[in-house]
Amino acid sequence: MSLIVQKYGGTSVGSVERIQAVAQRVCRTAQAGNRVVVVVSAMGKTTDGLVKLANEISANPSRREMDMLLSTGEQISIALLSMALHELGHPAVSLTGAQVGIVTEAEHTRARILRIETDRLNRHLQKGEVVVVAGFQGISSTDDLEITTLGRGGSDTSAVALAAALKADFCEIYTDVPGILTTDPRLVPDAQLMAEITSDEMLELASLGAKVLHPRAVEIARNYGIPLVVRSSWSDDPGTWVISPPPKQRPLEGLELVRPVDAVEFDTDQAKVSLLRVPDRPGVAARLFGEIALQDLDVDLIIQSIHEGNSNDIAFTVVKNSLNRAEAVASAIIPALCQPDGLDSENRGGDPRLQAAEVMVEKQIAKVTISGAGMIGRPGVAAQMFSTLADAGINIQMISTSEVKVSCVIAQEDCDQAIAALCEAFEVNSSPVSEGTEYRAHIAGEHSSSGSADGSPDSVAVRGVALDLKQARLAIRHVPDRPGMAARIFKILADQAISVDMIIQSQRCRVINGITTRDIACTVAQMDGELARLTLEKAAPELGYGEVLVDPAIAKVSIVGSGMVGQPGVAARMFAALAEQQINIQMIATSEIKISCLVAEEDGVRALQTIHAAFGLAGSQSIQVPA
Ligand code: ADP
Ligand code: ASP
Ligand code: MG
Repeated sequence: MSLIVQKYGGTSVGSVERIQAVAQRVCRTAQAGNRVVVVVSAMGKTTDGLVKLANEISANPSRREMDMLLSTGEQISIALLSMALHELGHPAVSLTGAQVGIVTEAEHTRARILRIETDRLNRHLQKGEVVVVAGFQGISSTDDLEITTLGRGGSDTSAVALAAALKADFCEIYTDVPGILTTDPRLVPDAQLMAEITSDEMLELASLGAKVLHPRAVEIARNYGIPLVVRSSWSDDPGTWVISPPPKQRPLEGLELVRPVDAVEFDTDQAKVSLLRVPDRPGVAARLFGEIALQDLDVDLIIQSIHEGNSNDIAFTVVKNSLNRAEAVASAIIPALCQPDGLDSENRGGDPRLQAAEVMVEKQIAKVTISGAGMIGRPGVAAQMFSTLADAGINIQMISTSEVKVSCVIAQEDCDQAIAALCEAFEVNSSPVSEGTEYRAHIAGEHSSSGSADGSPDSVAVRGVALDLKQARLAIRHVPDRPGMAARIFKILADQAISVDMIIQSQRCRVINGITTRDIACTVAQMDGELARLTLEKAAPELGYGEVLVDPAIAKVSIVGSGMVGQPGVAARMFAALAEQQINIQMIATSEIKISCLVAEEDGVRALQTIHAAFGLAGSQSIQVPA
């Protein structure tokens, strides 16, 4: 006999017929001798409808009242599902988040779960009842017992947290697609189903826009080692398993408030190559990294910053003993990159700021990285890393982030001091760069045996492609290049609860009034764009940077895969696919297992489709998504 948590999303309970079908499935699971806890979302698009109603009354409704309103959606579906189970003759009881005792912090509309009381749940389960729990909601730990919600899409998180608290055998997420696919089938119908995916890969995919799972649900599954499967509620197909490494022992108290940073990693065997002032047009990155891949050089971080005028800076790191070859490739290719419609003398038009392209190398560098899923949605973590380095007097040369990682390139001589300071600040131990773990190898083996579309090795390196159309790009011009600036800028944003992603500090220096400056760019949620700009503009006189620009018309397209570590050519292939479609890349940021490019919003879907095809991820069948 197993204890199983099943979660059914909005479309799966979107009508009376669907609720009855779900009741049948729950009944079958229980009658097979299992104890079952069911988590349900609001019916169909109910939550969207409630948000719309609120916005008709107020442009800026109170977050407390939003929770009061949105939590009603789930209350409808738990009652109806319970009734449907009764009709089938199965004992069942519906419970709200508060009745279960899903205790959260008092942060309305984005509360994290602190703990889940299991007494009442266990009492009902022992009586043979199916417990039907309202997803997405909880109750604050404060005296006022406020109703809270976990953030849109949060029912997945409720389900996995319940599975962790109850020590369930596994958690099943039932939705409207057959499982986790190589990308969103609504945009790319020939997306392919995966049998398995690692929790690291899924975390990146989920935080980069694949909404099939809430990233916090993946985080809990990984932290507590909960076996998690995503399946269709329309069929009995096996779906996709999310594989986690063996979990470390963790208390259930502070369930979602585990340390934001799991590890501080460093790599002193890196060197940096920067190409300054290369033309800003499609094909440049593709050409450069195509050449680099031809030389079989493995690139680690790649950063392309915001462009200025009609040129870009691209910087990347390679292992130290590849530096000479990488530099040679970069220098050799510069004339070709600048032809024929690049930065010729006419285009430069006598503007003294636009000088010829050049290559710069730096051997004495180190990369320090903080990583941990707990930093998702916690805007202060990156700022804390930057301020820790600043307090130690360490200047940051390059920054590249993903939702679960922040990497900084610093001078090699500062490395030991940086590690010590970061380990103390985040209360963790340090280690050299992480090596692939066994469970990753397991998945790579499984995938390669099924064969890739064109049989080439780097096809299997990429597991999924994601598109995020909800970000805006923020650019801060001419930031004085001294320790502490990034820290102060991102602290200002964090204080406004604005989460930033894809932070990039450009390589190019500009001397203004005798002060060396660099540009910093990042992405924020579109709805935070204006607030971010206004807040930073206010601080400009004090901090001494220039213009602050926000561009909401961007799309972020990303590839994810653990297998891309040590696989030259993956980045080149992504950039080449975009170049073939004449799609210009505005910004690039990478981490070990992902590469993200910013492109114009209007190019987003086409970029997703072409990249998906370029990696041979398309299947032979179209995925049908129920209306
Ligand atoms: P639910 O209501 O069941 O929680 P969601 O709408 O939140 O369902 O998530 C399922 C949807 O996620 C799918 O219909 C699909 O459009 C979208 N999606 C995006 N990326 C992926 C992916 N990589 N694999 C599967 N589905 C995806
Ligand atoms: N009903 C909530 C939403 O639409 C929670 C969920 O479905 O996961 O965001
Ligand atoms: Mg969902």
